[in-house]
Amino acid sequence: MRTSLKFAVGSFLLMLHTGAVGQSASMPPSTADANSGRDPIADLVGRLDLEKYKATIKGLTQFGDRRQGTDRNRAAIDWIETQLKSYGCATERLKYEYLEQGRTGSEPRVEVASPAKGSQPARTLGGGRGRYVRNPTYLNGDPNKQPDPKLRSLDTPPAVPGPREEVYCTKIGTTHPDEMYIVSAHMDGHGWGEAANDDGSGTALVMELARILNSPGVVTERSIRFALWNNEETGHQGSRAYVAQRRTLQGKEMPAGSGKYPEPKWLGMIQHDMMLFDHGAPRPDGSISLEQRTEADINIEFQSASKFASEANSLAWAIEAANENYASDYPAVIGSHMTNTDSVDFQDDVPSVSLRENERGTQIGSGWDPHWHQPTDVYATFSDKDFRLGLNAAQTTLAAVAQLAGARLGK
Ligand SMILES: [Zn+2]
Repeated sequence: MRTSLKFAVGSFLLMLHTGAVGQSASMPPSTADANSGRDPIADLVGRLDLEKYKATIKGLTQFGDRRQGTDRNRAAIDWIETQLKSYGCATERLKYEYLEQGRTGSEPRVEVASPAKGSQPARTLGGGRGRYVRNPTYLNGDPNKQPDPKLRSLDTPPAVPGPREEVYCTKIGTTHPDEMYIVSAHMDGHGWGEAANDDGSGTALVMELARILNSPGVVTERSIRFALWNNEETGHQGSRAYVAQRRTLQGKEMPAGSGKYPEPKWLGMIQHDMMLFDHGAPRPDGSISLEQRTEADINIEFQSASKFASEANSLAWAIEAANENYASDYPAVIGSHMTNTDSVDFQDDVPSVSLRENERGTQIGSGWDPHWHQPTDVYATFSDKDFRLGLNAAQTTLAAVAQLAGARLGK
């Protein structure tokens, strides 16, 4: 078991260090703690807890849908930053302007990127092939569909164009402070619910990893940045602003001789967006199972049309191997059609993947999650089997990133 994980993670590091990064090959980090014989990765994964993960999602839902450009969105950013600071993770904010109104609601649609021509099957967003019964999906814009008057009132103030902020925090590497992995999710939502799954579930996952990897005694060779994007739902303007403002700063020591790298070189980008609900495809009558399906899995996607497709594929397999070795319940599978989330903005600069409950284009886009952008995306909708899928994704990314960044436990 351990051998395959080492092989997958080692292969990914080797590709980085002999290929695009152009550095000498280095050995993969050791999984066994030299002093104690403990496996530090298993120790770190063991610090994740279902109740704590649920509590963090619940904490985010106090701000309703956290729609970008509102007071409830700004209050949520403040709350997230307070939590990250309390974990000992050094926070910063990125500022940008967003001057449009954003979508308020739309007609039901089935997402098809290209119409079927002749014998060619229609392609969904991201380039995958749509299968099974496909339910139309839409963004709910009707406040009256939210039955809870308190939540309806909380979600009522509209987005106002203007300045925007988003928060991230960084664990600085000991031997390679100038290189980092980005672990991320988006904290904004919409649809007149609590954005509990989209994307409270990914935001809480990133916050939990920040808590554990910044806890006393945890050391990593490379840096890790935990980013909570804003404005994903309007077209990922938050992650686009980050890439535009910071890509040219990568790996630069500032000020010279200080040993400080405000933007370590990007080694990999791992996005998390909708982590809870895998109840299967719609049935012939359009209905969907009320239970998490027995075969539920975590979908790791990269984009086969991106510049770093091959390296992103290797990153996906390193994460899959971490799932095999360290996740408690649900498996992970890999697809090649990553789309419609913040990692897309990074895919031509760095190996990038997304982790989700289902594939975005072929499954979520075909109506597999009936709560997506709906007033029913509230904490109370989800069962422990749902939350456990998100927890397994947290175990998966934590194990992978701890390996990739060279985590070990001090005395
Ligand atoms: Zn989302």
